[in-house]
Amino acid sequence: MVALPAEPSADERARHELTHDPSAPWCIHCIVGKGKEVPHRRILADATAPLDQHMFFADYCFIKTNAGVTDADEQFATTLVVVDKDTGAVAAMSLPSKEATPFATEFVASFIDRCGLAKVTLSTDGEPAITSLADKVKDRREHGAILQQAPKHSSASMGVVERAHWEIQSQTRTMIPKLLVRTRPPRSTTRTPSSRGL
Ligand SMILES: [Zn+2]
Repeated sequence: MVALPAEPSADERARHELTHDPSAPWCIHCIVGKGKEVPHRRILADATAPLDQHMFFADYCFIKTNAGVTDADEQFATTLVVVDKDTGAVAAMSLPSKEATPFATEFVASFIDRCGLAKVTLSTDGEPAITSLADKVKDRREHGAILQQAPKHSSASMGVVERAHWEIQSQTRTMIPKLLVRTRPPRSTTRTPSSRGL
């Protein structure tokens, strides 16, 4: 017989539901959202990068957001993803477009700064949207950045970036059901004559 996971206390459950991280075997949102296998792709060292050079990857991905508000077709959120290769730390931000805005620039640059690194290599694919953002990040940083363009499916970037995409997507899938419940307007909002229209 397979033992069922122990039920958490109400307090434990409330704390877990703030982030769903780490995932819990008793949480339905974690099971549904994170159930898919982590891509097991080998992370290969980049032969061209010097050892003292810290490497970051930046890329856009599109996260499916079944908004649930209307019955409209599936929506996809443009998401900027930055990964610190040394630690695996991931930063992600949903943006209105792929435009290299000051906000997007600051997001990438401040993530690299927060990792406490001066000399870094920022690796992207060759897509104009992301290379133009990388240029701006280089200008914005006091220590600049060495820019590197790797082919979209190069082995060096694939493992790191794909894993980050997977983590963000599974975390989003896990968080969304609860957020929708919290933000959805109540079903019957019929106003009584006494309501003040506030
Ligand atoms: Zn959970």
